[in-house]
Amino acid sequence: MTIVRITRIVCPICRGERVRLGATCFFCHGVAKVPVDCALDAAERRYRLAKGGVTSGDYPADVSRRLMDEANQIFDIAGVTPPWKQGAAA
Ligand SMILES: [Zn+2]
Repeated sequence: MTIVRITRIVCPICRGERVRLGATCFFCHGVAKVPVDCALDAAERRYRLAKGGVTSGDYPADVSRRLMDEANQIFDIAGVTPPWKQGAAA
């Protein structure tokens, strides 16, 4: 059972600055906060991409590592255990 304590967190892409690379943040659309579900979804995709990327050689290990760290941080902020940390067998 999952207990959701907060519903919105600071945008993980622009970190609440509302702009990204000089343009309105594509992720939060300049709102600075995003729904947790949305952020977790993005974090999970980012983690999978990074993990797949390092396996296939699409990403250097350090880039991959940074993306995975960011994904972990987003789950941390939300107080949710990432799917890749559930179940010790993995
Ligand atoms: Zn944003």
